[in-house]
Amino acid sequence: MKDKEVYEKTLELFKGCCALCGSPYPHLHHIFEGRNRKNSTKYGMIVPLCREHHEWVHKTNYKGFKEKAQREFEKTHTREEFIKIFGRNYL
Ligand SMILES: [Zn+2]
Ligand SMILES: [Zn+2]
Repeated sequence: MKDKEVYEKTLELFKGCCALCGSPYPHLHHIFEGRNRKNSTKYGMIVPLCREHHEWVHKTNYKGFKEKAQREFEKTHTREEFIKIFGRNYL
């Protein structure tokens, strides 16, 4: 999938609202960043967040989305594959 399609799908899934509070016009947060930013997009590990929650997730280093993303990934892949791609186990 192209990046733009992933972004559109993510917004559609969350009805264009923040995943945590439902505010409209959210930012798109990559659940895994840095060198894994591309993999976040590739595997659809993106969540829409309002400005406040986006700042909060970064400031507190919130792990909830990472755990959820790994659980989703492991429905179709093994844990070994996850660790190989993302570098660590979050569960
Ligand atoms: Zn929010
Ligand atoms: Zn972010």
